[in-house]
Amino acid sequence: MSRDTTQTESGTDPTEPSTDPTEPSTEPTEPSTDTAGSGTDGADPSADADQLVDTDPGGGGLSERERRETAATEPVVTARGLDVYYGDTQALDDVSIQIPANRVTAMIGPSGCGKSTFLRSINRMNDLVDIARVDGELFFQDAEIYADEVDPVALRRQVGMVFQHPNPFPKSIYDNVAYGLRVQGRTDDLDAVVEESLRKAALWEEVNDRLDETATGLSGGQQQRLCIARAIAVDPEVILMDEPASALDPVATSKIEDLIAELAESYTVVIVTHNMQQAARISDRTAVFLTGGELVEYDRTEKIFENPESQRVEDYITGKFG
Ligand code: ADP
Repeated sequence: MSRDTTQTESGTDPTEPSTDPTEPSTEPTEPSTDTAGSGTDGADPSADADQLVDTDPGGGGLSERERRETAATEPVVTARGLDVYYGDTQALDDVSIQIPANRVTAMIGPSGCGKSTFLRSINRMNDLVDIARVDGELFFQDAEIYADEVDPVALRRQVGMVFQHPNPFPKSIYDNVAYGLRVQGRTDDLDAVVEESLRKAALWEEVNDRLDETATGLSGGQQQRLCIARAIAVDPEVILMDEPASALDPVATSKIEDLIAELAESYTVVIVTHNMQQAARISDRTAVFLTGGELVEYDRTEKIFENPESQRVEDYITGKFG
């Protein structure tokens, strides 16, 4: 794994949108249509800097969705000019984005356009792929994710991940949730944290009388909520979800979607989904990746689905391709 240190030693504050018009990554090739891809770090205030300013602290007169879309929130993950390669294949091409705290940000786009790669870059899961190489800037809060001193295991405690297929350990329900705490050497209050995590994952009522039973006996939807409880137990800042409902039936999917909305009260959720309706239903922000690992547009979800800037995004949203 390597990274372009020339871009990361500038000392810039990732929470500050760049205003330097000479900075290459802030000059979109298609200014009128590219509001997020290469321009997220300042080119489109509506998608970015304005969202960091609380324009209506009281929230009066706004719907919950509007309030969430305009309320102040700090970026938790910031990418600038992020490139990821697998050998000779470029999976992400000059991606710049600021992901706000306590919001649900959806990544959509056709298969193979780099959505999962972006997600896996955030908690350095790509470290596990020998041929993966990362260039550019990627921050978790104000820490450089690919800095040598960052411990990926510690990072993954703060940036948890839930996968497409539920992957509970072949242990009891209780031991699954307590797993990360025990790895950290925590022995105090385990019962309380397990209960709280299961409650936050909307699973407590269904399993509290059988915590000692094996987790693999749960339904697929319950297993996925258990995996969410396991991720929550270590108190992360960010929960990455890679198609978390695509292997589930509609009822289980609906429960996961409701849960994601609740989780965003306490956590920053970044979700990859191939299901555009799901992105429209549950996310506050949507990032549209198209072929070649290009982030073409990133904005409020309503804007992306109702009035995207990019014709390519409109074509994708309306099913003309992809
Ligand atoms: P998406 O999540 O949008 O379907 P991915 O991030 O999985 O896209 O893949 C982006 C590109 O990177 C694709 O061309 C894919 O084949 C390639 N890729 C993903 N993972 C690997 C890997 N482990 N080794 C080699 N190439 C990979």
